[in-house]
Amino acid sequence: MRLIERTAMTRNHLMASAIDDTLYALRNLAEKGCRGFDCSEHSLSVLKSWAHSPYIRRSTAGMQDRQTSINVQPLPATVPASSSPQMTDSLDAIVADLADCQRCKLSTTRTRIVFGVGSPTASLIFVGEAPGFDEDQQGLPFVGKAGQLLTKIIQAINLTRDQVYICNVIKCRPPGNRNPEPDEILACVPFLNRQIASIQPEFICALGTFAAQTLLKTTLPISKLRGRFHDYNGIRLLPTFHPSYLLRSPDKKREVWEDMKLLMNEMSP
Ligand code: URA
Repeated sequence: MRLIERTAMTRNHLMASAIDDTLYALRNLAEKGCRGFDCSEHSLSVLKSWAHSPYIRRSTAGMQDRQTSINVQPLPATVPASSSPQMTDSLDAIVADLADCQRCKLSTTRTRIVFGVGSPTASLIFVGEAPGFDEDQQGLPFVGKAGQLLTKIIQAINLTRDQVYICNVIKCRPPGNRNPEPDEILACVPFLNRQIASIQPEFICALGTFAAQTLLKTTLPISKLRGRFHDYNGIRLLPTFHPSYLLRSPDKKREVWEDMKLLMNEMSP
């Protein structure tokens, strides 16, 4: 066989095998429920803007610990029901009640309580897991590397951090950014419930496993919870992946963008 014929055959073979691989990947995605991709210029540019900038300061060691530490933990059976009577007091009154909180062991290791930030009349609340190193230092939620990504996510839905409210399930940093423990969630979640009752948002976006499981009182994994709205005391709650998870699994940004588009559709008048 002439060289030219052999080259053509090899090329055809490679092409056929690439097509087979692509079909295999698409069938796999379809089996997992994927119905297509939004490849519009806008979506592609949003996802590109969420890329990690090499010029952003690298996270602290603590932040990196945290990124490997999120996993599913059953909630304590005694987590106060979110449907229990809610006090609708002001955020200031809740801060005053927290005071120099000593309700759990995290009070002995924290630098600052990280209560929450943003509009007291926000129609959207983002709820994260727990403060990390930077948040503990500054007393503000989501100011580290994951926070920078959250800011971009908020901007992508045409809002600013000032227009939403941002807080966490627990208000004090777990040492070494370990997972929150059941007794810590139990001590802190009444304050989260009161914050939500005070703000009365229309929507909650639960960031990651801990926020979603705590607010929805479920042990289902975030991958099963995300992508649709749930009910939290009459408020529409959308779980999505935590920004820290996106930092180590950037391929999941597309799913978060799909979730954000759901949110935008429902929020628009
Ligand atoms: N991760 C969180 O869950 N909350 C923060 O405030 C920062 C990082």
